[in-house]
Amino acid sequence: MANWNSLRDELEQAKREGRYRPITVWESRSGTWMTLNGRRLLQMSSNNYLGLTDHPDLKEAAIRAIEQYGVGSGSVRTITGTLDIHDRLEQELARFKGTEAALVFQSGFTTNQGVLSSILGPDDVVISDELNHASIIDGIRLTKAHRKIFAHKDMDQLEAVLKESAGFKKRVVVTDGVFSMDGDIAPLPHIVELAEKYDAFVYVDDAHASGVLGKNGKGSTDHFGLHGRVHIQVGTLSKAVGAVGGYVACEQVLKDYLIHKARPFLFSTSQTPAVAATCLAAIEVLKQSDELITKLWANASYFRSKVQALGFDTGGSETPIVPVIVGDPAKTMRFSDLLLEEGIFAQGIVYPTVAMDKGRVRFIVTAGHTQEDLDFALNALERAGKQLGLLG
Ligand code: PMP
Repeated sequence: MANWNSLRDELEQAKREGRYRPITVWESRSGTWMTLNGRRLLQMSSNNYLGLTDHPDLKEAAIRAIEQYGVGSGSVRTITGTLDIHDRLEQELARFKGTEAALVFQSGFTTNQGVLSSILGPDDVVISDELNHASIIDGIRLTKAHRKIFAHKDMDQLEAVLKESAGFKKRVVVTDGVFSMDGDIAPLPHIVELAEKYDAFVYVDDAHASGVLGKNGKGSTDHFGLHGRVHIQVGTLSKAVGAVGGYVACEQVLKDYLIHKARPFLFSTSQTPAVAATCLAAIEVLKQSDELITKLWANASYFRSKVQALGFDTGGSETPIVPVIVGDPAKTMRFSDLLLEEGIFAQGIVYPTVAMDKGRVRFIVTAGHTQEDLDFALNALERAGKQLGLLG
């Protein structure tokens, strides 16, 4: 038997600190109400913002694609793994985002890894918001570029760093469009202004903005009217879009470069035909109507304002991601457990995902929630909050 004692010790420590998280296994499809251990629970932790995972057009597209193309693509994109359906998806994504080109990866995570590790070299500097997603951090770690971190959304610090970065060959400012743990929006207009002043590239990860922010869910660049001024827009196909995959929307020259450089693109089998077809159908749904997105934002404002009125701290939330800040990791997980007893699944998020004293239960509101659902959650929140002494 191998000696895994050091790993066991770490897990035991996580248990003592209330940070141990077994995988939750669901018995139903993704949706507003889901079944766990035979119990129906109100789902408030899914990224299925628009309920597209169960949309009839998407399901039909997937089934048709399986019948036409089979279940797998057979190889990486550069050998036999680019079917016409993959090509069409990239063309549609580019049109949707208003860019020259788009390149699809197997996930948002590998998109960030692939793009950042390809474009950054030892003579470059990457300047990253401290709360950027793990996939950005890992992508940066894969490069030999100089790394500078600025305090969350601190534009004075960003300017100071840019000012002292003139000697580098390329300067790349990287930010999430919507921050996944806090639900706040990056000050993209200010970032673009500074980048233009100091001749830097702007890279935005719109994982939580794709299908959520901007006209028809086109993302944060569209939301702020910054078309043509953001050089690299990363998106995911796994959250509001309802399937799985990631993409970068950019200029053709960058796409061509990534096709030759990005290792997750070059060395990992392409999306299944069903996934590509699902994503194409999702873009059609987004293009046809803003109705689901309008509902999503109305639900988010209703829920956030009521949570705040109860006296909870929702941090900087300004999107459908609504964290309720608790602080202590053990207390955070207790809060999440109490909500579970009430029939609500809202995930506790603790160190190391967030700082040790910034534990929170993160609620994600979707277009599928009814007002009755949200009121049900609010009542439970009030009871659990009082029980834990979080409310007066
Ligand atoms: N970026 C951000 C900001 C995210 O929240 C996520 C998802 N957790 C990703 C990238 C990765 O996307 P995907 O799940 O498609 O790999």
